[in-house]
Amino acid sequence: MPPIQINAERLGQHIHDLAQIGKIGETGVCRLALSKEDRAGVELVKSWMEEAGMEAYIDPFANLVGVWRGSDPGAPVLMLGSHVDSQPYGGRFDGAIGVLGAIEAVQTMVEQGVIPACNVEVVAFCDEEGSRFNKGLFGVRGMTGKLEADELERTDKNGVTRREALLEFGCDPADFEGYTFQEGRVGAFLELHIEQGPVLESLDEPIGIVSGISGPLWLTVEMTGFAGHAGSVPMSMRHDALLGSAKIIVALNELVRREPGVPTVGTVGSLTVFPDSRNIIPEKVSFTIDLRDIDICRRNALEAELLSVIENVACEHGLTYTIREDTNSDPRYCANWIKAALHKEAGLMGMKPPELMSGPFHDSLTMSYVCDYGMIFVRCLEGISHNPKEYASPEDITLGTELLYRTARQIVVEKGGFRT
Ligand SMILES: [Zn+2]
Repeated sequence: MPPIQINAERLGQHIHDLAQIGKIGETGVCRLALSKEDRAGVELVKSWMEEAGMEAYIDPFANLVGVWRGSDPGAPVLMLGSHVDSQPYGGRFDGAIGVLGAIEAVQTMVEQGVIPACNVEVVAFCDEEGSRFNKGLFGVRGMTGKLEADELERTDKNGVTRREALLEFGCDPADFEGYTFQEGRVGAFLELHIEQGPVLESLDEPIGIVSGISGPLWLTVEMTGFAGHAGSVPMSMRHDALLGSAKIIVALNELVRREPGVPTVGTVGSLTVFPDSRNIIPEKVSFTIDLRDIDICRRNALEAELLSVIENVACEHGLTYTIREDTNSDPRYCANWIKAALHKEAGLMGMKPPELMSGPFHDSLTMSYVCDYGMIFVRCLEGISHNPKEYASPEDITLGTELLYRTARQIVVEKGGFRT
């Protein structure tokens, strides 16, 4: 273990204490965005920000922001953070280690008497998960001026609107109006997060440096054939929409696996069959496609191949089809200079973390549109997340937080912040 400067014991205590709020079972948490539990978690984290030497406040979008003042308060800030809301059946590490690790990084610098060249802000973004109102990254999109028109009218499953939930939380959406994000206000954003996948564990590496967040392509495909009696229509005369769909699903799997070693992933996770009866040839099948890659050219080439597979299968089985594009986002790459800083500091710790892509999105995804960003991943047991069984070891979290601390320190001291 390399020499550690952060206070691993304090960090572990914070992770433990936060996990007691909204605790489910032995190891899980449920802190839905803007709920009472979320509020209690935010209050506790706010008290730790203040203990660490920051001024803390909650902005109109219900983001918790801690500010550690630097020598040039007008310079672009270094922002660190993640989220403390959780899935309804969530784990204690997702998001939490990014916020608590950032507080620990700042507190360590404060205790060492570091004077940062710019302000450092630690943010616990509101509603990253999106499970309550079915749309995530709310706080970070609010802060960066990227909310959509109907956001406040979205309801949770009890009919509570986001507007009502914000008011209940103590934030007034009327304050959004006077708020505009200042372009250039943030110099860089760093996020520490559990990997939520099995790659680091398979490489036997405690931490990794993220190369970028892959952009998902989401399609909904609907194949239409002709219903008929399953006992009487000869095989050669059928227009079976489910058989055609099955061939497309298998083809997608083969396409994304073709090039060994690349991180491309493709998934069909939802399928509906009409009329869904055992003795009727399926007439209509609709299914979703989720295709992700860090390399947009490769993803586009695979999409083109998949579309020709769909066309060929439709011809072969006498089907018609429609394809709806639900989401199409580009991969967002981490800044080279931040990755270089992370590699340098990891090297000084005697480590050589691998680079890996992030399949899931994070608050960093939204931040990537307003500033340079970098991410550190911490290994998690069997890649399990969004599940009370989620686990990352204290040793691995300590290494990730130490790297966050050292890199933040390098930026605000050695690099001298973001004055050009
Ligand atoms: Zn998360």
